[in-house]
Amino acid sequence: CTRIDCVSLGVVVNRNAQRFYDEGEDFWPKRYAIWGRLVAQQPGQMGYSIIDAKALGRFMPPVFPGVLAHTLEELAQKLGLDAAALMRTLNDYNAACRVGHFDHTALDDCHTEGLRPAKTHWARPIDTAPFCAYALKPGVTFTYLGLRTDETAAVRFSDAPSQNLFVAGEMMAGNVLGKGYAAGVGMSIGTALGRIAGSNAARAAIRKEPQRASA
Ligand SMILES: Cc1cc2nc3c(=O)[nH]c(=O)nc-3n(C[C@H](O)[C@H](O)[C@H](O)COP(=O)(O)OP(=O)(O)OC[C@H]3O[C@@H](n4cnc5c(N)ncnc54)[C@H](O)[C@@H]3O)c2cc1C
Repeated sequence: CTRIDCVSLGVVVNRNAQRFYDEGEDFWPKRYAIWGRLVAQQPGQMGYSIIDAKALGRFMPPVFPGVLAHTLEELAQKLGLDAAALMRTLNDYNAACRVGHFDHTALDDCHTEGLRPAKTHWARPIDTAPFCAYALKPGVTFTYLGLRTDETAAVRFSDAPSQNLFVAGEMMAGNVLGKGYAAGVGMSIGTALGRIAGSNAARAAIRKEPQRASA
């Protein structure tokens, strides 16, 4: 698996060649964690991020190469999508694009008009060959489940802190995160709570075996 960073630069369609969400809603650190769920809700849990030559080189390249084609019909065929349905979706999208000043570093004014779902930023027609697509499948990044804890990193059983069991990282991230996720938060939780849990676990061990600890 690899991360696909070009969602906001093009359109994303499902196996029926239909768009299903605003690809330009927000910047990727705020946005990318919601796409797994969106793709999981599509037929066959598949999506296809489609871009044209204008987007190539403007995003962090994924580990795996995309599917490249010189026409959109050829792209549809290579992806196994209904070409007529994909052309309808892309023609509708292209016609709805109101291109202002494209700026991928800001929530720019390039948007669609009269299209559902709308693309609210970075909307530019998909019209310049070569065209490229990446298949999307959801992966599990976090479940929001795990152990209950508090600011001491002690595991809480029946709402009482354990004297000798501490938790950090993904196992307790659900205590901090409830919905959504911003990039870097996973590592921050692991680093901060890891230090607290490690320190408190060492103190608990010293409390339990003071003689051996001092020796
Ligand atoms: C695709 C993806 C992208 C991410 N991107 C980011 C990002 O950009 N920024 C960010 O901050 N965070 C990101 N995260 C989240 C971050 O990677 C995790 O929060 C972090 O790695 C969790 O660290 P951890 O040590 O708690 O758990 P893990 O890294 O999951 O470590 C748990 C370890 O325990 C081992 N284990 C499990 N069961 C047992 C057992 N019974 N006995 C022995 N060992 C066992 C596992 O093999 C594993 O090595 C991402 C996560 C994913 C999946």
